[in-house]
Amino acid sequence: MGRSSFDIEKITVAITKLFPGGAGLHEPWFLGREVELVTEAIRSTYVSTIGQFVTRFEGMVQEYTGSKYAVAVVNGTSALHTSLLLTGLRENEEVIIPGLTFIATANAVLYCKGVPHFADVSSKTLGIDSSKLEIYLNEIAEAKGGRCWNKRTGRVIHSIVPMHTLGIPVDLDPLIELAERWNLKVIEDAAESLGTYYKGKHTGTIGLIGVLSFNGNKVVTSGGGGMILTQDEDLAKRARHVTTTAKLAHPWEFIHDEMGYNYRMPNLNAALACAQMENLPLFLNNKRKLYLKYREIFSMIPGLQLVDEPEYGTSNFWLNAVRLEVPSRKVRDQIIQTCHEKKVFVRPLWTLMPDLKFLADLPSMDLGVARNLIDSVICLPSSPFLIGGER
Ligand SMILES: *Cc1c(COP(=O)(O)O)cnc(C)c1O
Repeated sequence: MGRSSFDIEKITVAITKLFPGGAGLHEPWFLGREVELVTEAIRSTYVSTIGQFVTRFEGMVQEYTGSKYAVAVVNGTSALHTSLLLTGLRENEEVIIPGLTFIATANAVLYCKGVPHFADVSSKTLGIDSSKLEIYLNEIAEAKGGRCWNKRTGRVIHSIVPMHTLGIPVDLDPLIELAERWNLKVIEDAAESLGTYYKGKHTGTIGLIGVLSFNGNKVVTSGGGGMILTQDEDLAKRARHVTTTAKLAHPWEFIHDEMGYNYRMPNLNAALACAQMENLPLFLNNKRKLYLKYREIFSMIPGLQLVDEPEYGTSNFWLNAVRLEVPSRKVRDQIIQTCHEKKVFVRPLWTLMPDLKFLADLPSMDLGVARNLIDSVICLPSSPFLIGGER
């Protein structure tokens, strides 16, 4: 047996022996008042776009994140779409997004007829690398008429969408400084990072606007759901208006003053989310315990590193992940395959955005780090009940 296959065996055993009965990547945990509150919503007959749970849920998120405003919507993707529209993204303008992200980030730009422009990430934070982006912008961009122009494509660059990958806070300060210098809006994709803090501030509350997701695989779920966070009263009002079909308040007339969207979160989903929010501290605590357990295990295995939280912030450990010291698609896939055979459903990161056919040929900087990360990172089972609880 060669040395590399020996390592693969050792790594696979280390992961799978923790979960003799198998484990999903991230599954929801309903140990609180979920059934009670959802039942209450049903009994009230307000199951749809009107009802007290939506407002209650918005209040809970506002309080938890310290965000001045929070607007609940049907999912994280619609929250991103709305945020890009409201920050003024227009057709044919470019938006800098990480080359390493979930497809929703790119799709939201495309919904606005914008052009995703891919940036490389830092191997430490897995989020946009501000130093590399700075050098790149100096090369390709030009400030003219208060806007940032891409000299190569002749298009305006409208904004940057930093994403807090796997719940790890991206280093925002240098990115925000860069954005200010180039007159770019900052929209935080904090879909994965409820419970993550950057220098004491909750992620999603630092940029001009930020979004959360409450999909079934996120830290807290509403079934499907999203939230728009902003500190700007006007943006919050606009968000509420366009996500509720842009209808003017009136006892019976249907007057809509612009094209709007039916993006308001239904009350039934909000009821589930309210019950979930009550256990968020427990979820986060357990996830950190699981991280410490993984750290103990993987510190003994050469050739592997656990993905860590940076010193400037705290991760929610949405997904714990290990990284091969020597990137190899083949080794990565062998480990994943063997774990799957033992019903431990580890996953790779996403496909690099421009490697998806429909996103090829879009503007991009060199994505060497992101590419290496994709070939080396394996996401580990991270459900909150895997340690300190039973489902
Ligand atoms: C989950 C997620 C979203 C939003 O997803 P929805 O399923 O629409 O709620 C957006 N961006 C990233 C990076 C995500 O992980």
